Amino acid sequence: MRYIRFLRNGKIGYGLLEGDRIEVLRKNFLDGIEESDEVLGMNDVRLLSPVSPSKALCIGLNYKAHIGELEMETPEKPVVFIKPTSALLSPDEHIVRPALSKRVDYEAELAVVIGRKAKNVKIEDAYSYVLGYTIANDVTARDLQEKGGQWTICKGFDTFMPLGPYISDEVNPEVLDIESRLNGKIMQKSNTGMLIFKIDYLISYLSSVMTLEKGDVILTGTPKGVSAMESGDVIECEIEGLGILRNSVI
Ligand code: MG
Repeated sequence: MRYIRFLRNGKIGYGLLEGDRIEVLRKNFLDGIEESDEVLGMNDVRLLSPVSPSKALCIGLNYKAHIGELEMETPEKPVVFIKPTSALLSPDEHIVRPALSKRVDYEAELAVVIGRKAKNVKIEDAYSYVLGYTIANDVTARDLQEKGGQWTICKGFDTFMPLGPYISDEVNPEVLDIESRLNGKIMQKSNTGMLIFKIDYLISYLSSVMTLEKGDVILTGTPKGVSAMESGDVIECEIEGLGILRNSVI
C-alpha cells in the first residue's frame, strides 16, 4: 500500500494512493485502515509529509563513499542524531537557506517509518515494526557542521527535513536505487544495499535506547555526492518505488 497525508479545504486528511487516485481514509492510517467511499484526484489535494513524527532519528556516515568525501572515519557504532520535528517540510515546499549559513547541502536518504511502538526489538523481529518507507532530504548547513561539536544546529533549522511524497510498504528496502538531482543534474547515485548499518540492526539498536513510537522516522544516511544548494535551485530526491521528493530553495 501507499499511504499519504494531505491538506484539503484547510483540513488534514489521510489516504491510500492507487496510481493517481486517492482513496480517502476515515482516520490516520497509523491508527488502522478505515476506508471511506470518497475518492479524490491528486489535483484535489496538497500533499503533506506523510507523517508528523514524534522524533526523527538520523544516521550519519552510513555509506562508505560519503564518509570518504567528508574525510571522516568509518564509525564502529552508528552515529545518531535527532532532527527536531520543527524542521519537517512537505513535498514542493521551500527549503529556506538560513542567514547563519553560507553552505546548505542536500542529502537524499531512505527513511524508515515505524508502524507500532517498538522497545528492545530483536533484529529478527525488526521489520515487523515498520509501516513502510519514504524519502527524506537531510538538509545540512555544512559550514556549521564542524563548528558545532555535534549536529543539532547544522541539521536542525526550520525546513531542513523534507519528507515524502508517500509511504510504501511494497519495496524491498535493502536493494533500492537512490538518486538526487540538482536542477535536473544527477548528483548522488547509489543503492541502499551499500548501507553500513542495516535497517533491522538500526531498529534494534535504537529501540534498545529509546521507545520508537508509531510514525517516528529513521533517516538511514546519505550516499556520496553532497554539495551546496543556492536560492532558486530545485532539489529532487528519488528512490526506486518511492517516487520523487521535490523542493525548491529560497
Ligand atoms: Mg544525513
